[in-house]
Amino acid sequence: MNDKRLRAIRADITTLDVDAIVNAANSSLLGGGGVDGAIHRAAGPELVHECRLLGGCKTGQAKLTAGYNLPARHIIHTVGPVWRGGDNGEPDLLRACYRASLQLAVDHEVSTIAFPSISTGVYGYPIEQAAGIAVRTTSQCLESTESTVTEVVFCCFSESDLGVYEQCLREMAE
Ligand code: ADP
Repeated sequence: MNDKRLRAIRADITTLDVDAIVNAANSSLLGGGGVDGAIHRAAGPELVHECRLLGGCKTGQAKLTAGYNLPARHIIHTVGPVWRGGDNGEPDLLRACYRASLQLAVDHEVSTIAFPSISTGVYGYPIEQAAGIAVRTTSQCLESTESTVTEVVFCCFSESDLGVYEQCLREMAE
């Protein structure tokens, strides 16, 4: 299946002019390193004030805030699983992140959304496996729900990650 709504690019996710960007947050939602730190820096200090009111977020779940100084109107914060070898529910939890984020997007009538490569930085999820889950789960969500989403961008930070996502998208199109 070739879903034209899905594509991969290499960019800093904080610069993207989409309705919502997804943050690979930690369970406190109070900021951290990697993409989380970049999003908090770019959105500005009001973001952490709103996040404090949310009471954290469990792994596999998602919560929405405003985008503040970002071009994006919303930030969807989701907490990916830490990789512990793959036999500890990691694939189901990662799938849950994509599903919960896309459900929130629909709830808020988002049409364009960008995802970072959740869990594949500090959390150590192998990129090939994580990208496969990202692409397949997203495609299934767009098919199965009456989705408002018209465009999903997989925003890669490195050229090699982009290559992996592009391969996954090609495999899905075959
Ligand atoms: P996690 O804790 O879920 O592993 P990380 O932030 O450590 O999250 O990494 C997730 C992915 O986000 C990695 O591929 C990392 O290279 C990437 N990343 C880091 N900064 C940015 C950014 N500004 N825009 C897009 N992706 C980013």
